[in-house]
Amino acid sequence: MPELPEVEVTRRGIAAPLLGARVLAARLGKPLRWPLGRPAAVLAGATVGEVARRGKYLWLPLHAATSRDPAEARGGAEGGGLLLHLGMSGSLALLPVAPAPGPHDHFDLVTDRGTLRLNDPRRFGAVVWSPSLHEAPAATLLQRLGAEPFDPAFTPAALHAALQRRRAPIKAVLLAGDVVVGAGNIYACEALFQAGIHPGLRSDRISRPRAARLLAALRGTLARALEVGGSTLRDFTDAHGVSGVFQAEAAVYGRAGLGCRQCGGAVRRVVQAQRSTYFCPSCQRR
Ligand SMILES: [Zn+2]
Repeated sequence: MPELPEVEVTRRGIAAPLLGARVLAARLGKPLRWPLGRPAAVLAGATVGEVARRGKYLWLPLHAATSRDPAEARGGAEGGGLLLHLGMSGSLALLPVAPAPGPHDHFDLVTDRGTLRLNDPRRFGAVVWSPSLHEAPAATLLQRLGAEPFDPAFTPAALHAALQRRRAPIKAVLLAGDVVVGAGNIYACEALFQAGIHPGLRSDRISRPRAARLLAALRGTLARALEVGGSTLRDFTDAHGVSGVFQAEAAVYGRAGLGCRQCGGAVRRVVQAQRSTYFCPSCQRR
């Protein structure tokens, strides 16, 4: 499943080439998780603004055509933007010359800088038109998202305060994504290991210094994944390569029964919130 680092690497790969691109056409394939909410044809004529990311969503602002060329005005572009999600299996590619869409290509945004194509075999992804990020439907989809992990305003004190309001195990709170986004299963396991925090510890029992260590560990883990992703995903053909490379150097994730890289004891696997949790019972304390 594409996680925050993969989505951010995707954003970095498409933002510069798409900035200022003119939309020539849009094509929909099979239905995705949610409908576009507009006829695809109304997107033609718009200009793409700077692609942004919020959680695992990408936002492509579309500026209405201001040209006095009547041919463009007839395109009917009305601004707004597209909120994209890669779901369980989606990947985005910006293709200089797009081949005919394959059976899993369910959205094309054809621009004068190439075709942005969503490939999504399981179709849990989505492309949704919204008048802005601050209005429905985008605002509704984004409203429960927690803080951005790299937001400077998200301080250790802010994380600590948010954790104090929750009683669930810290691992489940991280996975829920409503305190902080980006802590997908692998990153939550690794960050808790680095911070020396037992995944079953109740969120509201985490001290301020441990919250600070957790935030630093989460940022470090995501930064490393971005670094690895940036070096392996340049051509954006495989959205699943990142986790694979990152996983090879994981300290605990996927290493049940193997020796902890810190103390040599056996890494354990338990199930929490229907997800596998990997941790070291000696290095991670309640
Ligand atoms: Zn250990």
